[in-house]
Amino acid sequence: MIQRTVPSLRKLLLRPPGYLSSSKIGTYQSYASQPSSLQIPDSTYSDLDEYANVDWDNLGFGLMPTDFMYVTKCSTGQNFGHGQLDRYGNIELSPSAGVLNYGQGLFEGTKAYRKENGKLLLFRPEENAIRMKIGAERMCMISPSIHQFVDALKRTALANKRWVPPPGKGSLYLRPLLIGTGPVLGLAPSPEYTFLIYASPVRNYFKEGSAPLNLYVEEDFDRASTRGTGSVKTISNYAPVLMAQTRAKSRGFSDVLYLDSVNKKNLEEVSSCNIFIAKGKIISTPAINGTILSGITRKSVIELASDLGYLVEERVVAVDELIEADEVFCTGTAVGVAPVGSITYQNRRVDYKTDSGTICQELNNTILGIQTGTIEDKKGWVVEFD
Ligand SMILES: *Cc1c(COP(=O)(O)O)cnc(C)c1O
Repeated sequence: MIQRTVPSLRKLLLRPPGYLSSSKIGTYQSYASQPSSLQIPDSTYSDLDEYANVDWDNLGFGLMPTDFMYVTKCSTGQNFGHGQLDRYGNIELSPSAGVLNYGQGLFEGTKAYRKENGKLLLFRPEENAIRMKIGAERMCMISPSIHQFVDALKRTALANKRWVPPPGKGSLYLRPLLIGTGPVLGLAPSPEYTFLIYASPVRNYFKEGSAPLNLYVEEDFDRASTRGTGSVKTISNYAPVLMAQTRAKSRGFSDVLYLDSVNKKNLEEVSSCNIFIAKGKIISTPAINGTILSGITRKSVIELASDLGYLVEERVVAVDELIEADEVFCTGTAVGVAPVGSITYQNRRVDYKTDSGTICQELNNTILGIQTGTIEDKKGWVVEFD
């Protein structure tokens, strides 16, 4: 049944445009219910060809399945071969797959933007590739080459191009995964790995939209420990913070701000983004020390802020400094440069400047402008392709 109703890539490209413009989300179910020769008036052809049927003005950060995913596998002792674009859908796994039993997995996240000229843009994709490579070494996994990773991102974005939002309406979030898919029983590295990339159109990460975040400083749970895997984007770092995040959200906070696990008094980061504080012309952020994730947005913002004349310090930032800060903001691919409106620590809430003219806004406009192609990229960060 699925065989018959899910067309191959080749067949799909021969279909009349709009064949897959299913209701609000393109799931397998909705394809299956599509008549094979949809009658579409000529006048709407070009529109349907260019864009999927999505309410672009109301995108959040939920999963909206797209047409294709990139998949390739590799056994121990080999390198990843050329991947292919499969229809997006479920994957089959052995119950004893390394990722299911022992959490051997890494993820990445980057965004493709659509430029006014119709071309697509990626932001520093080789940085994601390098991070996955370093993470794979830490997790005893085989990783794709930098070139293959970047090429796979481009191919995935192009195959799902009609899901890339119009300029100014968001981006196509690309989610690379590297997972141990070979069977294991005793604790050991998996004998086989799968590298795949799926995509979803997105806009705002937090339900607050672009409104300031209200963070809660967590004292009962640590996110990472010294010499652990806090600096690696391994899937195994994320389920353990769900409890703290859920609790904070149920108390009305947007997310959790973690402290270091040794002294319990220095800032680390938020569940899925890095943190900065600003006072006068000085911007500070916790130094990369092995327990925080080395964000690509963080690294880029540090460089841009220096160019704009701020003094940027990467150092130990004590939680007590939150009381004196003028501004606090978070950085990450998903959130961009997001303003923090308040932080609550030991029953004390401190509020920050978030109105117009903030450093946060200046940095967000700058980086977003570069990422979307409206500000000239003088650093060679942006990859344009079609
Ligand atoms: C992904 C992630 C970040 C942000 O990294 P970017 O490369 O800027 O997207 C920060 N902290 C954590 C814990 C993350 O998982």
